[in-house]
Amino acid sequence: MHFKRFLDIKPEISNLFIVFINNKVLYDLNEKTFLLNSSYLNFNNFNFKKIGIAEDNGIKIYVIDLSNESFNFADQGYQSLVEYDLRYLMTILSEENLSLVGRANQLLHYLKSSKHCGYCGSIMEFDSDEEAMFCTCNNVMVYPRISPCVLALIKKDNQILLARNALFPEGLYSALAGFIEISETAEETVKREVFEEVSLKVNNINYYSSQAWPFPSQLMLAYTCDYKSGEIKVDGKEIIEAKWFDIDNLPNTPPNSTLSGRLINSCILDR
Ligand SMILES: [Zn+2]
Repeated sequence: MHFKRFLDIKPEISNLFIVFINNKVLYDLNEKTFLLNSSYLNFNNFNFKKIGIAEDNGIKIYVIDLSNESFNFADQGYQSLVEYDLRYLMTILSEENLSLVGRANQLLHYLKSSKHCGYCGSIMEFDSDEEAMFCTCNNVMVYPRISPCVLALIKKDNQILLARNALFPEGLYSALAGFIEISETAEETVKREVFEEVSLKVNNINYYSSQAWPFPSQLMLAYTCDYKSGEIKVDGKEIIEAKWFDIDNLPNTPPNSTLSGRLINSCILDR
């Protein structure tokens, strides 16, 4: 599998399509796949938004967006198509497939958000050598953007700090998270975010692992750190609750398919 970006498409040959409709991904329950063969799909036209995202043994893989198209489920060669939320797919796919469907979501977002030049407002062209959107006004090349974020898991003796984000479902706790600021190192972000969100100071910041997070285009960098000083005081906006939990008695945490889930579990295994 080679990751590439391309716009050209030959409808007369078989391609593989990852199909998005209103932010949901089409999945065939019989074949257990989101990679749909274009020969088995029936379209009125090929005017939908599309971008090639990879090539596998000469077969091109595209992500396409049918949100504004008429697509008749009964007319398709696949008999058991359902629409799945990307977050649900994350819990059932292998790491390789997750990477591919995540890439599809990110590049679809790139295609939709890079239509006009940010300098002059003209419609941008696709440069196939650079695999990026291009405008002649300032020789601007716009590549897909990734936003780096940190996850911070604070340790204190036999306890870890877990928090509830205002957007979390009831009862779910996770590590702290935040976007890296312009000019900041990831370790500086860990210190700043921890202080902003729960008023604690930390040290011994150690890198754990990373994960592409396609909602829509983050790269999560996970760190562990040690409690240094301070009393927990949540910011009340992003974080509504934070407390120390014994490693032996943790609340509901994210699944192992997510980096935050693996980061939290690494502390249990580390003991
Ligand atoms: Zn321009």
